Amino acid sequence: MLIAVEGIDGSGKTTIVRFLVEELKKRGYDVVAFKEPTDSEYGKKIRQILKERKISPEEELKLFIKDREFNVRNNILPALKSGKVVIMDRYYYSTIAYQGALGLDIGKIKTLNEQFPKPDLVIILDVSPETALKRIKAKRKPDRFEDLEYLRKVRNIFLSLKNNIVVIDAERDIEEVKRDVLKVVLEHLEK
Ligand code: ATP
Ligand code: C5P
Ligand code: MG
Repeated sequence: MLIAVEGIDGSGKTTIVRFLVEELKKRGYDVVAFKEPTDSEYGKKIRQILKERKISPEEELKLFIKDREFNVRNNILPALKSGKVVIMDRYYYSTIAYQGALGLDIGKIKTLNEQFPKPDLVIILDVSPETALKRIKAKRKPDRFEDLEYLRKVRNIFLSLKNNIVVIDAERDIEEVKRDVLKVVLEHLEK
């Protein structure tokens, strides 16, 4: 079972992924979480280039695909093969939304990602860019590209995606968001 948690910066993905791992463990599930960008060489390079964004969107896309190839081969596939529930803190929907918002062709990004395992469930934590930026600013200095206009585009692409997608209103109190996400995930696991 592969579950992806997606959403714009500051939507609560990391908070929710940690919560899900804890709750599923309590219920006896063998569960593991991975994040993207990863901590591999590709992931490190991605974090570096995101600070400057001096490379072209095409080059940026290539790096995300390389990082995902690494993650799928070394982490995601082995965990799925051993029967674990795998929870992703970002997956290829982020590539569709973020690199799509840079102007790359969305159909092309989707095609490049067809080689990777398809999630059984995708949770999109939906917040307004205004709320997202407020949350980020409380935590750290925003990246250059974490601006309202860009995040608006990213959000719109996330909301246009179809198939196995559940959109959760993450503008609300974190306890309400946790409750709703857990309900959706448990329903899927018990299916
Ligand atoms: P990023 O994309 O930057 O990794 P993220 O989606 O992983 O962000 P988190 O790091 O989980 O988001 O949350 C960002 C901040 O917002 C944290 O300080 C977290 O405690 C807070 N936060 C998360 N969800 C909510 C919520 N529903 N209400 C209020 N604050 C929240
Ligand atoms: O989720 P996390 O905070 O680790 O993501 C790192 C950064 O990478 C974020 O600022 C996000 O905006 C950016 N990102 C991106 N394109 C992606 C995925 C993440 O620009 N496909
Ligand atoms: Mg995070």
